[in-house]
Amino acid sequence: MMPAKQQYKAKCCMVERFEVALNTPVGRLTTAIDVPTGFIPITAIVPVARRLGEEAAQLEVQHATEAGQAISCRIGCAACCRMLVPLSAPEAFALRDYVGQLPTDRRALLLNRLSDTKDRIKQAGLWDRLNDVAEASMPVSDDELDPINRSYYTLRMPCPYLENELCSIYEARPSACRELLVTSPAELCQDLVQNPVTPLQVSMRISSILGLAWGTLTDSPPRLIPLPMALEWAERHEEESRRTWPGSALLDQVLDHMWRFLSQAFQKK
Ligand code: SF4
Repeated sequence: MMPAKQQYKAKCCMVERFEVALNTPVGRLTTAIDVPTGFIPITAIVPVARRLGEEAAQLEVQHATEAGQAISCRIGCAACCRMLVPLSAPEAFALRDYVGQLPTDRRALLLNRLSDTKDRIKQAGLWDRLNDVAEASMPVSDDELDPINRSYYTLRMPCPYLENELCSIYEARPSACRELLVTSPAELCQDLVQNPVTPLQVSMRISSILGLAWGTLTDSPPRLIPLPMALEWAERHEEESRRTWPGSALLDQVLDHMWRFLSQAFQKK
């Protein structure tokens, strides 16, 4: 990241503009990012991280297209919205804020659906296992998560935020949802376990990056919070979400973890 080039007054506050350059395995990403100069909560950096993730993913899409592959994902195809979606702590707080500002009737509808989803997960004997993941005091390994993910997927339960096969929180959807694109035929996604589905390889996982950044900032383990319990988790951890940091310090923290992620991606190539 280059030093701040400009400071100016935006609608809300003084803002600092940073020129960011990231080398990814499929090309260089350069962009300008505005961050408030004052103290901000972690949720304020979530859209910035997601934007960088989407711009990096766009490079991957372009690379795949040039290699003759096509992305099969289309509006109205929500086969993957039956999987368990993990969120970082900052994303759980951001989702709570997003749902909290919805009109009362929309919010009530979503909360009802979340309550039904919780009942179903409890009936399947999975709620406590998901809660253990969300509250784990140590990072949870992929080997530990795999059987939980599989059990959840066998329920074939639509995401509580899915309406008529469309995401009802599209602009606030988790990073994990944004990053899942496939190049195999769409019909294979009807069974993501049995069929040979080919996901697009993305070089940055923004939920992991935000989770690691949050872990460093708060001296806590990087958390994965299952989407169906994200609002409850965020309410339980309300106190933590009130902490603030200088905007540039938060951006530094996120960029630092992005660079580490990208270095690993280069090593794997
Ligand atoms: S949040 Fe939206 S995109 Fe993600 S699983 Fe739910 S409905 Fe699908």
